[in-house]
Amino acid sequence: MRGHDGRPLVVGTGIAGLYVALRCRELGLRPTLITKSQLDEANTRYAQGGIAAAIGKDDSPALHLADTLRAGAGLVNRAAARTLAFEAGARIADLVRYGVPFDTIEGQISLGREAAHSRARILHAGGDATGLSIEETLKERVLDAGIEVRERTALRGVRPAGRDGVVALISSDRGRTVEETQPGTVVLATGGAGSLYRQSSNPSIATGEGVAIAFRAGALLTDMEFIQFHPTVFWREGAPRYLITEAVRGEGAVLRNESGERFLLGQHRDAELAPRDIVSRAVEREIQRSGHPCVYLDATGIPRDRFFGRFPSICRFLATYGLDPSRDWIPVTPVAHYMMGGVTTDLEGRTSLRGLYACGEVASTGVHGANRLASNSLLEGLVFGERVARQLVHPVAATLPAPGRLVRLAWPSGEGRGDLVKTFDRVRDLLWDNVGIVRDGNHLRSALDEFGELARHTEPRRESDVPGPVANAVLTASLIARAALTRTESRGAHYRSDFPQRRPAWRLHVGIVRRDAPPLRP
Ligand SMILES: Cc1cc2nc3c(=O)[nH]c(=O)nc-3n(C[C@H](O)[C@H](O)[C@H](O)COP(=O)(O)OP(=O)(O)OC[C@H]3O[C@@H](n4cnc5c(N)ncnc54)[C@H](O)[C@@H]3O)c2cc1C
Repeated sequence: MRGHDGRPLVVGTGIAGLYVALRCRELGLRPTLITKSQLDEANTRYAQGGIAAAIGKDDSPALHLADTLRAGAGLVNRAAARTLAFEAGARIADLVRYGVPFDTIEGQISLGREAAHSRARILHAGGDATGLSIEETLKERVLDAGIEVRERTALRGVRPAGRDGVVALISSDRGRTVEETQPGTVVLATGGAGSLYRQSSNPSIATGEGVAIAFRAGALLTDMEFIQFHPTVFWREGAPRYLITEAVRGEGAVLRNESGERFLLGQHRDAELAPRDIVSRAVEREIQRSGHPCVYLDATGIPRDRFFGRFPSICRFLATYGLDPSRDWIPVTPVAHYMMGGVTTDLEGRTSLRGLYACGEVASTGVHGANRLASNSLLEGLVFGERVARQLVHPVAATLPAPGRLVRLAWPSGEGRGDLVKTFDRVRDLLWDNVGIVRDGNHLRSALDEFGELARHTEPRRESDVPGPVANAVLTASLIARAALTRTESRGAHYRSDFPQRRPAWRLHVGIVRRDAPPLRP
């Protein structure tokens, strides 16, 4: 198995991994692509709303940049967001070239509106099947290009190898045997951590393993406290947590409590189109106040044909529960959705470890700050995926952003035993109950104590043994809680009931690194 520079190992087959692999191939490299699941199973597949790009006549990258900065609550890295907004058009052109069938009206790509975007700039495909269309198209192009793909092959760890880059530890039989690559380049495109929460919109692959693996290797992480909660996911006892995209509110749907009141009026001037953190907290408060398990999305004001044409998958899903959105209100609740932070990268996707790159949801490029603007994440995977691919061929210098506050964390070794299924369930409960939409110091400290206890069971006895997925889940959960405890203010998606105000002194990033990590590169 290779990993050296001409043959990078790309880990993950969502939008970021597929795109990086394709672009590497086009630039003359011979990438290998691995995924712990099947080629097409990733968060990407479930994205509904679409992908943001300022391609409309009344729009501009500068306006897209301004909206991204505003949503990020003072913590967006301006250079990264500028890159995102200004390179969006070229990356959309790539998707069109690969054959992604974006929806059109009279020959022009049709653009939807989403919360906190000042213009209609959301491209979509198959109505609300944007992620699926992108995933399927890129998958086909990867197969056409003859790129080596290994499914059900998990990255278990990376080890720095000095000037030669990193060695990857991979296994294709649930960790029983671990194969080592040659030292070289590894691109983490392993996605987010949403499914570590009991209530989540993410599929089960989203366990944040890339973050744990990078941390263990000594890489710098930032912004781990910022987990975005999506306010409108279908609620019914025993039903899957199916997302009802923001674009539905963009088309005119409103939120009501069980008495029919629009409880968001008066809370924010944009009401239902306020940033996600505002809407999620308002919904959570309403649920707590009323004792009713959900609120309702009322889309009955949208003409039936328009709704069915724009959101066919949602309509099919609702029909299985006997609901017709042109007649019935849709029961919804907030759930964990997106990881804003992750493995710190510079503008070229390089992490603090030589040879280790990251892009997509696992990376912390700084474009989202404290709160992601809707539909910027698929775009981020493309824009920074392109930069990673180019960097592997034509390296350029870039500076790694330094965090304003650095936590050096010791992590215990353990006994390598314990009930793994029960541990995983406990992690999900603890994150949801103690590190959720509303947090406080007592709950965070209590979660951290218990994560430490769980780690003593799940971590391997010897440093040389490779930790399994449950040990990684405990570690990633702990990193989220540790960052959340460190930030003693409320900002964007991070809300502390014991520190409810935003504090100017906290306009900085929280970094976390292993206590015994090598010095960080400038
Ligand atoms: C329901 C839903 C709706 C969304 N809607 C939108 C939207 O409309 N617009 C938007 O911009 N964003 C949306 N998002 C967010 C967006 O889909 C994700 O942020 C984006 O798809 C992440 O892409 P990615 O390539 O980084 O990761 P993913 O698509 O999650 O892919 C991660 C890959 O890594 C693999 N992997 C993980 N760990 C390992 C390991 N240890 N070893 C090997 N492989 C591993 C996984 O199997 C998977 O193949 C939505 C997300 C969800 C869940």
